[in-house]
Amino acid sequence: ETTTKANIGVVGLAVMGSNLARNLASREGNTVAVFNRSYEKTETLTSEHPEAGFIPATTYAEFAESLTTPRTAIIMVQAGRGTDAVIDELTKVFEPGDIIVDGGNALFTDTIRREKAVRETGINFVGAGISGGEEGALNGPSIMPGGSAEAWETLGPILKSIAAVAEGEPCVTHVGTDGAGHFVKMIHNGIEYADMQLIAEAYDLIRRGTNKSPAEIADIFAEWNKGELESYLIEITAEVLRQVDAETGNPLVDVILDQAGAKGTGAWTVQTALDLGIPVSGIAEAVFARSLSSKPAQRAASSDLPGPSEAWTVNDPDGFVEDVRRALYASKIIAYSQGFDEIVAGAEQYGWDIKKGDIAKIWRGGCIIRAQFLNRITEAYDENPGLVALLTAPYFREALEGTQEAWRRVVIAAAQGGIPSPAFSSSLAYYDGLRADRLPAALIQGQRDFFGAHTYKRVDRDGTFHTLWSGDR
Ligand code: NAP
Repeated sequence: ETTTKANIGVVGLAVMGSNLARNLASREGNTVAVFNRSYEKTETLTSEHPEAGFIPATTYAEFAESLTTPRTAIIMVQAGRGTDAVIDELTKVFEPGDIIVDGGNALFTDTIRREKAVRETGINFVGAGISGGEEGALNGPSIMPGGSAEAWETLGPILKSIAAVAEGEPCVTHVGTDGAGHFVKMIHNGIEYADMQLIAEAYDLIRRGTNKSPAEIADIFAEWNKGELESYLIEITAEVLRQVDAETGNPLVDVILDQAGAKGTGAWTVQTALDLGIPVSGIAEAVFARSLSSKPAQRAASSDLPGPSEAWTVNDPDGFVEDVRRALYASKIIAYSQGFDEIVAGAEQYGWDIKKGDIAKIWRGGCIIRAQFLNRITEAYDENPGLVALLTAPYFREALEGTQEAWRRVVIAAAQGGIPSPAFSSSLAYYDGLRADRLPAALIQGQRDFFGAHTYKRVDRDGTFHTLWSGDR
C-alpha cells in the first residue's frame, strides 16, 4: 500500500494523453495520476513505462482520491461529446478550487460554455490548446491556455515545465480568459492550413513548370529552409518529397492519393472569420482546396474541360524557382496577417486581452507552424501594439516590396499554365485590394441602393443618401 499522491492527473490515454502524461512524469517533482475510460489503455501505459511512476486509477473517484488538493487534471479525450462526458464525471468527484484542463481540440465556443458551467460548481475550468501532435505532446508542445488568471497561477509553472522551449523561453502563455486559448489554437491551425497549401502550390508550380523530380524539389526546399522561409513545415516538405515508396520505387508523393483530409479546425477558423467579418481568404482557399481535392466524381467529370491551348514553358527555371520562393513568402505574410486580424477581431468580440506578440512567440517552438519568421511578428507588435495590419509593419512592408513583382509573375504563369494556385492568387488579390485607392465597392453600393434602397454614403459630404433611380418602380 502506498500513500504517495499525484500532483497532476491525465484523463484520456490515447496517443496524445499518454505522451503528455509521460512528458509530465519526466519533469522533476511531478507524480502523475492516469485514467482512461477503458482500463486496457491505462494498463498498457503503466506497464510499458514503469520509469514514469504513474498512479493508475480504475474509476473517476479513485482518480480524484489519488490527487493532492487542490487537484489538477488534464483531459485529453476525443473533442466534443467525449470531453463533455469526462467533465461531467470529474465535476462529480472534484471539489471547489480544483482545476480541470481540457487539452483537446475543442471548439472555443464549447470552451466558453463549459467554463461557465464548471465555474458554477466552484471548480476552475481551463481550455488549453495543445499543438505539436504526438511528438510535441511527448517532448514539448506549444500550449495555449485560456481560463482564469487564478487558475493560471497554479497551472502556469506546470505547463511551463512541459512546453517546448524556443530561444530559452517556454512556448506557453496565458492567452486570455475562458475560450481564448482554444480560439488561438484554432487560428494556429487555420494558418497551418494556409501554410501547407502555399507550400503545396509552390511544389506543384515548380514541378510542372520545370519538370524537376520530387527529389530535386526536395533539395530546393532544403535550401529554402536555410533562409527566411525556415520552418518546420518547409523542413518536413523536403523529407516528404525525398521519400521513395518501398513497393514501387517511385517517389512516395506520386503514390499517395491526391485527396487531402481535414479534421475541421481549418473550417472552424473560416466559419468564425465569416461571423466576425474578417477576410481570411488565404486560409479559406486552403480549406476549399482540400475540399476540392476530395471530390473525385466532380474532378473526374471535369478532367476533359478545356485548358490553355499553348503548352506552358518556363524559360529560366532557376529564375522561376526564385520567383516561386518569393511568391511563397509574400503569400505566407498575407496568411499570417489575416490570421492575426482574426485574433484581434475575436479578442474584441469576446473581451479577451490577447498579446499578439506573445502568441507569435509561443508558436516559435513545439507547434506545427513553428518558424523563425514568428520573431518578426513579435517584433512588429512589440514596436507597435496598435498595429492595424501586420503586413504594414516596416519589416513586412519591405519583404513585400522585395517579393511582390515575383509574386505577380508567378500568379500570371500559373494562370497561363492552367496550374491551380488558389492561395497564391487570392493572397495577391487581397494584397491589391488593401492597397487600392478606390475599390469597386462603390459600384456595389450603387447596385444595392438601386434594387433595395439600401442607401450609400458619399465621398464629399456626411450623411446617408438614396438616389431616385430611373429604374425605380
Ligand atoms: P482521440 O482519438 O481523439 O480520442 C480517444 C480518447 O478519448 C480515448 O482515450 C477514449 O477513451 C477517449 N474518450 C472518447 N469518448 C470518451 C468518453 N465519452 N468518455 C471518456 N473517454 C472518452 O485521442 P487523441 O488523438 O489522443 O487526441 C486527444 C485530443 O487531443 C483530441 O481532442 C484531439 O483533437 C486533440 N489533439 C490531437 C492531436 C493529434 O495529433 N492527434 C494534436 C493536437 C490535439 P477509450 O480508450 O475508453 O475509448
